[in-house]
Amino acid sequence: MKIHEYQAKEILKKYGVPIQDGVVIESKSEGKEAVQRVADQFNTSQFVIKAQIHAGGRGKGGGVKFCSDAAKAVENIDKILGMQLITHQTTPEGQPVNKVMVAQAIDIAKEYYVAITLDRAVGKNVIMASTEGGVEIEEVAAHSPEKIIKVWVDGPVLHAYQARQLAFGLGFEGELFKQAVKLLTNLYRCYIETDASIAEINPLVVTEQGNLLALDGKFNFDDNAMYRHPEIKEMRDLNEEDPTEVEAGKFNLNYVKLEGNVGCMVNGAGLAMATMDIIKLQGGQPANFLDVGGGANVETVKNGFRIILSDPNVKAVLINIFGGIVRCDRVANGIIQAVSELGLSVPVVVRLEGTNAEIARELLSSSGVDIISAGSLEDAAEKVVSAATR
Ligand code: GDP
Ligand code: MN
Repeated sequence: MKIHEYQAKEILKKYGVPIQDGVVIESKSEGKEAVQRVADQFNTSQFVIKAQIHAGGRGKGGGVKFCSDAAKAVENIDKILGMQLITHQTTPEGQPVNKVMVAQAIDIAKEYYVAITLDRAVGKNVIMASTEGGVEIEEVAAHSPEKIIKVWVDGPVLHAYQARQLAFGLGFEGELFKQAVKLLTNLYRCYIETDASIAEINPLVVTEQGNLLALDGKFNFDDNAMYRHPEIKEMRDLNEEDPTEVEAGKFNLNYVKLEGNVGCMVNGAGLAMATMDIIKLQGGQPANFLDVGGGANVETVKNGFRIILSDPNVKAVLINIFGGIVRCDRVANGIIQAVSELGLSVPVVVRLEGTNAEIARELLSSSGVDIISAGSLEDAAEKVVSAATR
């Protein structure tokens, strides 16, 4: 699960990480008052208006504007609120901006980068830090990887010597060195305690006044841990998520949209992965991952169909169900009912294997629904790929 910058900053603040603060608004009519509030609260006459969308690269896309006075700030609020913001991380149509942060403007002396994530290959958390902040870290990684310092941390505590190693590596001295050690220690505790999978500050800045400050904040959280963090779960913004994935979630279906044209409806994550693999082996491209779970009944099959077919790229559908606890004849009845109620806009290949598979095949063939029956998994993949490319 992702959250907005302003929410990330709320969390960072709670953990003692100093942030560039401000006020968040959702309507242009609040603009003038919000600017005044920021002016009073932070004793400033300069502002930064920041679009709140989950995608990164807002600055380059025109979603972050420095304003040298209050009138320009109000002007930029009017411009940015409601705009379609296009960045390298959004779809080509962009993402609508429903919220903006009116932030205090900071005089930056230097920009840094710091992030924590899990290094799966090593089985430890890794803290990455760089003196090349502000720019995209992927670019630094590609062109000057030696400028990214990495420290691997085993367990829930960042040891003092590791925090010092990072602060030293970034070239901090004196008061800033102390601030950096404290900030890194707090950020690591925050990452662990919130069950984050990514905690990133880019840029982390040294201000002209000589203090460290988080100018941006980005978190990803482990969905499976969100039951432990109701206050973070509350921060979810469905406007920022793929609408079909949100819809699928309502029906307890695990759906991930992909780029291809072969829709897949499968029970069990392992079988779903295998199905996607074999579609690729046959030269096709899966349009989605969809695990309908253990109880594939009429409702789940129907909802699965609806979700798969809402993707205009889908040219054929493969239903691949292994009847273990769920019996194939019940799944077959589900398919027949779903197809007769929803109609079929694309060819559908069905492979049912397991308990009562024979009965299921008879049900399907005598029902008159226009599906293509398949035997083995390979046969099914071949048939659906050729149906999709026809
Ligand atoms: P992102 O582009 O989505 O990562 O948005 P950021 O919040 O990181 O802002 C982009 C860039 O805007 C930063 O890297 C800064 O260079 C600049 N910026 C943001 N806030 C301020 C500010 O208060 N003062 C100055 N001078 N620049 C800022
Ligand atoms: Mn940033």
